[in-house]
Amino acid sequence: MSKERILIIEDEADILSMVSLRLKSRGYEVCGAESGLVGLKLISEWEPDLVLLDLMLPELGGLELLRRVRSDKRYAKMPILIVSALGEESDVVVGLELGADDYLSKPFNMSILVARVNALLRRARVDVDEFESDPNDNKTSKSIVIGSLRVETENYKAFIDDKQIILTGTEYRLLLALVTANGRVLTRNQLIDSAIGNDAIVIDRTIDVHLASLRNKLGKMREIVETVRGVGYRARQI
Ligand code: CA
Repeated sequence: MSKERILIIEDEADILSMVSLRLKSRGYEVCGAESGLVGLKLISEWEPDLVLLDLMLPELGGLELLRRVRSDKRYAKMPILIVSALGEESDVVVGLELGADDYLSKPFNMSILVARVNALLRRARVDVDEFESDPNDNKTSKSIVIGSLRVETENYKAFIDDKQIILTGTEYRLLLALVTANGRVLTRNQLIDSAIGNDAIVIDRTIDVHLASLRNKLGKMREIVETVRGVGYRARQI
């Protein structure tokens, strides 16, 4: 397999070289861009497998770059990890809603960055496999397991230690959205989109109420639903 390519769009030279060295040492092919415009150009010419994106950038800001990249269907599934400075939480929320896959705040721990990159690339490979596999294959009910929690993905059922927990439709859809996000943070709006179904009208902060109720029903597994301050929620990987 050829090396996977990572594009780092970052205008702070120290961070760029530090991250670049670390990712190269992990076997990735790495390219850096110190402005948004150069980054955009490299996305189309170099075709990276993943992009690390700073938000405050010269020439073209990270959010505008994200908007342009995600509106091009060739790059709809390319993993994008935002690396944001302190105090940019509201931009991070916008970024996640524009289709970024995950984010890290500076200063970040290098091993965590590598772990997130690995996880995003692994997930991207799985998505491709599923897309290419025979749709007639494997139609048995699938489930996602985190610790003693098991969520069946097609039939609205969830279990703790093989004992079913009774969830409303909204709670089930929220739980499913969180566990399928695989540790990625989901903003309130993204959760609202996931939660809207025939039996639910969900507005803004009422999402918090549904999540509180979901946590209660999860009992000893309640810690799975983690609040990410100022941004949203994620399923803790345990
Ligand atoms: Ca910057």
